Amino acid sequence: MTSYKELGLVNTREMFAKAVAGGYAIPAFNFNTLEQMQAIVQAAVETKSPVIMQVSKGARNYANGTILRYMAQGAVEYAKELGCANPQIVLHLDHGDSFELCKDCIDNGFSSVMIDGSALPYEENIALTKKVVEYAHAHDVTVEAELGVLAGVEDEVASEVSHYTKPEEVEDFSKRSGCDSLAISIGTSHGAYKFTPEQCTRDPKTGKLVPPPLAFDILHEIEKRLPGFPIVLHGSSSVPQDEVDTINAHGGKLPDAVGIPEEQLREASKSAVCKINIDSDSRLAMTAAIRKHFDEYPSHFDPRQYLKPARENMKKMYIHKIVEVLGSNDKL
Ligand SMILES: [Zn+2]
Repeated sequence: MTSYKELGLVNTREMFAKAVAGGYAIPAFNFNTLEQMQAIVQAAVETKSPVIMQVSKGARNYANGTILRYMAQGAVEYAKELGCANPQIVLHLDHGDSFELCKDCIDNGFSSVMIDGSALPYEENIALTKKVVEYAHAHDVTVEAELGVLAGVEDEVASEVSHYTKPEEVEDFSKRSGCDSLAISIGTSHGAYKFTPEQCTRDPKTGKLVPPPLAFDILHEIEKRLPGFPIVLHGSSSVPQDEVDTINAHGGKLPDAVGIPEEQLREASKSAVCKINIDSDSRLAMTAAIRKHFDEYPSHFDPRQYLKPARENMKKMYIHKIVEVLGSNDKL
């Protein structure tokens, strides 16, 4: 048993309370490589932002749980080395799908877990979430639950259609499950293809797809029913068109990739939404930089030559999100 406290990590409780009160959101960046981790820590330290480093089940399988635990510890120590006296870093399990997986993460240094019972019938979702909450809280680990289903594909989480969260269920669910935060479905979506062209309109000037707006009426109704309760948005990458264009200009093939417009995420950050998940944008930033590098320097074969610009490009993206979208800068 390794407690996250030994690693210098924190849970989300105080972080979320401050974010809800302060009208900003904490970035939750997915990671599974050294370069992503370095870029996240550099961005968080430079902007003085708390940060959630999260891994899905697939990422944990890819990177190995033991290595991830020490990477998270390394992230805390690296932040201190970069001059941050009191780093606020959470290691979070994204989309835990069983009690056993959540328990294993809690026993191995995670400070926060998500139990995603959103595909289960309502009462089963409550029962599973409650079981995880009881174990987690005994170890001072915080728990994110989900009500409603997001469309899209993210590692092994996939759904064809979305089902918006029903506001009339949120009080009962949060009370009975005991969860610390709640992921809701209001029209965000997993992956780099969040909407089909049919769901979008086209900007007549640029020819780019414009996605349907988020259901802010549902968010506001949930806020009214659960005042001050931390709300989470998954699938909130913006799929920057300049990165998509770079990828496509250098041999890639991502036609009509589309994400959530940043002005809508900016608006959501000011509400009870206190955690915004961003994964695809990091993947795109990394891939764009590497593709461009390969194209421009065909003789390069040292991974450091192309991973360095990839890291720089991700860091730039993380800083942009923190400062321009979520507003979590200067909070340490
Ligand atoms: Zn998700």
